[in-house]
Amino acid sequence: MTDRLYYYDSFLYNFDAEVRSVVETPRPALILDRTAFYPTSGGQIHDTGTIVVSDAGFSGAGFSDAKFRVTEVADTEDGHIVHYLDAPLKDPRPGSLQPGTRIRGEIDAMRRLDHMQQHSAQHVLSSAFVRLFGMTTVSFHMADDYCSIDLDTPTLNKDQVEAAGRRANEIVTEDRPTDVRYVTRDEAEKLGLRKLPPTERDQLRLIDIRDWDLTACGGTHVSSTGQIGGILLRKTEKVRQGYRVEFVAGQRAVATSRRDFSTLTETAAMFSAGLYDVPQQARKSLDEIRLLHKQLEQSQDELAAAQAATLLAETPETQGRKLVIRTFSGRDLNFLKLLAQKLTRQSPAIALLATESPQPALVFAQSAGQPHDMGALLKETMAKLGGRGGGGKDLAQGGAPKSDGIAAALAAAAAALSS
Ligand SMILES: [Zn+2]
Repeated sequence: MTDRLYYYDSFLYNFDAEVRSVVETPRPALILDRTAFYPTSGGQIHDTGTIVVSDAGFSGAGFSDAKFRVTEVADTEDGHIVHYLDAPLKDPRPGSLQPGTRIRGEIDAMRRLDHMQQHSAQHVLSSAFVRLFGMTTVSFHMADDYCSIDLDTPTLNKDQVEAAGRRANEIVTEDRPTDVRYVTRDEAEKLGLRKLPPTERDQLRLIDIRDWDLTACGGTHVSSTGQIGGILLRKTEKVRQGYRVEFVAGQRAVATSRRDFSTLTETAAMFSAGLYDVPQQARKSLDEIRLLHKQLEQSQDELAAAQAATLLAETPETQGRKLVIRTFSGRDLNFLKLLAQKLTRQSPAIALLATESPQPALVFAQSAGQPHDMGALLKETMAKLGGRGGGGKDLAQGGAPKSDGIAAALAAAAAALSS
């Protein structure tokens, strides 16, 4: 079993150890006799850092330190901790990295402190939800940019989230000592822990935030709550087993607030508004857009009706119906459909319409009772233009990749109707 130094001192960022085994495949990795590197477990993500093989014993040969980057740390089933390295083990001294080699471990302190802040914030916050609302935490997740807890509760409202956040930050401000204690399982059962792990182990490691939270945990924590810095609660969402609450603590909270501020500032600038007026301004703009959309629809309808009347008036009747063939530009597919409907609604007519822009498109329509098949005719026409489309017997539509050849395609379609 690897001796876990972080159990006793979570601020230990440098340590000496001895290599127990060296693994080259599938990824280069080291197992040490002792380590301060934290492996991913209990919701907390692993440390990163460096393993240095010092030049002791090689100084005469003029070698300098060999450094290996630790990119991932994981537990094995038999209680060892594996340090995965980012590159093959190319120590300049042949055979120097082997069982028995002395190394120095250096942990990325900023990353570890961040993890301690997030993890300790979780303890403080979970206890706040239990104490205020009887909501227990069923799981904890730490991602690279935010953390979340899942609460066992059928409901969670905004006031409850705000109250829990306020109480948790009071505990941070009070800078309560956070101690690690070891007790037997029997003792733990009498202490009324927030969470008792379902393990067979005789000895339990307890994290004791004075008069606030007592729980069993194997992670790394701050030594007093003031080091958490602050806790910012963000998104909440309903999940299968209850409610998920996202939060960030410490420098992450500051960085996240900064980012939120930048986003809001950028948005406010678009409206030439103050930051807190953005929702009101956005609502106003959306209302305007909806109104304009409605007005545009009405105008399009009137325009289509007028255009249909003009087109029908100037088109002579042949074979008992009017055949309207027309190519537009600057009209969309919806307008073509509207126009086609108006052209074919009253007297017998066939409309072969196209638009070149903004998107090349075709609409074929005939009045009810006309003998042709617009869907088949459009499909045939689209095949020539390299586009796709379809529809029913009386109305069909399709989009073409480019406007070239549309006029010729319409003429061919018209010829097919007369043959
Ligand atoms: Zn913990």
